[in-house]
Amino acid sequence: MTTYLGVCGWPVAHSRSPQMHNAALAAAGLEDWRYLRLPLPPGLFEETVRALPAAGFRGVNVTIPHKQAALALADRASDAARAIGAANTLTFEAGAIHADNTDAPGLLAALPFAPAGRSALVLGAGGAGRAAAWALREAGAEVAVWNRTPERATALAAELGVRAVTAATAADIVVNCTSVGLHEPEATFKALPLHADSLGAGSLVVDMVYRVGGTQLLEAARTRGASVVDGLEILIAQGAASFGRWTGLEAPREAMRKAATTIATP
Ligand code: NAP
Repeated sequence: MTTYLGVCGWPVAHSRSPQMHNAALAAAGLEDWRYLRLPLPPGLFEETVRALPAAGFRGVNVTIPHKQAALALADRASDAARAIGAANTLTFEAGAIHADNTDAPGLLAALPFAPAGRSALVLGAGGAGRAAAWALREAGAEVAVWNRTPERATALAAELGVRAVTAATAADIVVNCTSVGLHEPEATFKALPLHADSLGAGSLVVDMVYRVGGTQLLEAARTRGASVVDGLEILIAQGAASFGRWTGLEAPREAMRKAATTIATP
């Protein structure tokens, strides 16, 4: 009997998780497992997810705009998912729904160094921004958060014990957690409050957004001498953590990286 996994989102056409996880399942020898793309409008999310276990699903990833709803419907949740207030991984086990957040460890795993004692500027206060701010704070960084809608940054900062800022501020690590650069190929990162020093040599710029050929933000950071982390590396790291959760196996990361970087999205 086939065991199913999937990614729920709206929209979800841009997600590379299906090709990445199907490559991982094949590399791990799980021939009867399939990972599906599940486009779910918000009004259908909860009832559909509750029906998935009976349809043979072991678990799902959850993306825009369902991460908070995913935590809300779960019977149990990890400490990280609860603290962040959002879940990107649901596992169906023993009649219950368990929520995890693998975006947070995924971000830390993709960094080239431990962020303890460094200053970090998180741009965005949505699901990814919350996960990044929590992960960096837990790892010992001094975290500031900026958001286009300042009230959301203030609320996030108060809840997670970090600092909200309303203008560009210098930082050792900048993490773009806005969706700027996702939908419009020409979208300009100049809308983001970036301090000139944060894009130069000695800085690390991380873009959660991933695109074929990279994003304008990372191109600009690289040109100015900063180190960069592509959102694809975070996608692979969070996907590897979800894969381990569902299968109990070590994720075949090289197969995941190859599939995520070489197979075009539809
Ligand atoms: P979300 O909850 O919908 O939040 C979107 C964020 O983007 C909000 O902070 C929003 O600000 C901001 N924003 C949207 N348009 C903007 C604009 N024109 N200028 C400035 N800010 C703008 O989405 P999310 O789940 O946090 O995801 C954010 C991005 O990270 C997406 O592109 C997603 O694909 C990516 N992501 C990647 C990974 C990975 O594995 N690489 C994991 C998670 C997320 P307001 O509050 O003002 O609306």
